Amino acid sequence: MNILAIESSCDETSAAVITNGKICSNVVATQLIHTQYGGVVPELASRAHQQHVLPVVDKALNDAKVTKKDLDAIAFTKGPGLLGALLVGTSFAKSMALGLNIPLIAVNHMQAHVMAHFIDEPKPSFPFLCLTVSGGHTQIVKITAPLQMEIIGETRDDAVGEAFDKTAKLLDLPYPGGPLIDKYAAAGDPNAFPFPLPEMPGLDFSFSGIKTSFMYFLQKRVRENPDFIQQNLPDICASIQFTLIDILLKKLKKAAKETGISQIAIAGGVSANSGLRKSLQELGEKMNWKVFVPAFEYCTDNAAMIAMAAHYKFLENDFSDQTVSPMARMDF
Ligand code: ATP
Ligand code: MG
Ligand code: FE
Repeated sequence: MNILAIESSCDETSAAVITNGKICSNVVATQLIHTQYGGVVPELASRAHQQHVLPVVDKALNDAKVTKKDLDAIAFTKGPGLLGALLVGTSFAKSMALGLNIPLIAVNHMQAHVMAHFIDEPKPSFPFLCLTVSGGHTQIVKITAPLQMEIIGETRDDAVGEAFDKTAKLLDLPYPGGPLIDKYAAAGDPNAFPFPLPEMPGLDFSFSGIKTSFMYFLQKRVRENPDFIQQNLPDICASIQFTLIDILLKKLKKAAKETGISQIAIAGGVSANSGLRKSLQELGEKMNWKVFVPAFEYCTDNAAMIAMAAHYKFLENDFSDQTVSPMARMDF
């Protein structure tokens, strides 16, 4: 059984082929055009998806040594994401499924980030918790079976990836700044500049206050010393990263305690952060958790995770018809 999956929710055009539950190819074209604007420009993202979708799909089929005739279903990201970007992948998948007369599978992008854990060994068993941290979301998800998921905590304002990227912008680092903060933090002291942690009840998060306090901190220090950022970049990045990770892991610890679940996973673009990966491993050893960290290629947006989610949907005959349309906001 071969499924072609297409991801186009933001600024990665990606296609993957999954055969009997095994990923056979995963092609990702990252749109570099947005760097010069300091963030993703939706209209430019849609146009770049239009340009990339055909060659990316072709390459995914070639890499997997699968022809169109061998396909049993076409999967695509239905949402959440940028509507114009989603429309490209959705329309492409619908036309291809119609042309080949095979079923269509609509996938939720945030569920797919979690399903990335079923691509490689070791795979978590059920139930497990997943901290999904990305450019647009920050969620603690409880998973009881494949695609049976419940959000038990989430951000009430900004996503943690957004906090990384916006702080990086204040430091004059190019978009997306998250990976650069990670890079500079490696050589810095995480305790150089302490920041107050937000107070948020339950398992929910807030990152807008901390973003503002980074901004005031930098403005004040730069007023005192115009070269403050250049002279202290590693320490600033390490301190910011330490604070953001601390917020995430405190809530994760609380969620594990409240649910009694000790299999803990992370997913989404920010799960590529080396500080988060290391701190989670350390906390896991201390708490006696079984920790699951995805391979780097499956952290940021990719179609392999869409394909993995689609595989389980196929097994349950969970198909969509030609009236399906993308959704910018979408619950599980
Ligand atoms: P969503 O999944 O919420 O729709 P998205 O698809 O844009 O958002 P992803 O591609 O999953 O997000 O993740 C992108 C985010 O991950 C960006 O904010 C980026 O800065 C962040 N990111 C990627 N690598 C790292 C890293 N090493 N450290 C910190 N942040 C990182
Ligand atoms: Mg992206
Ligand atoms: Fe994503």
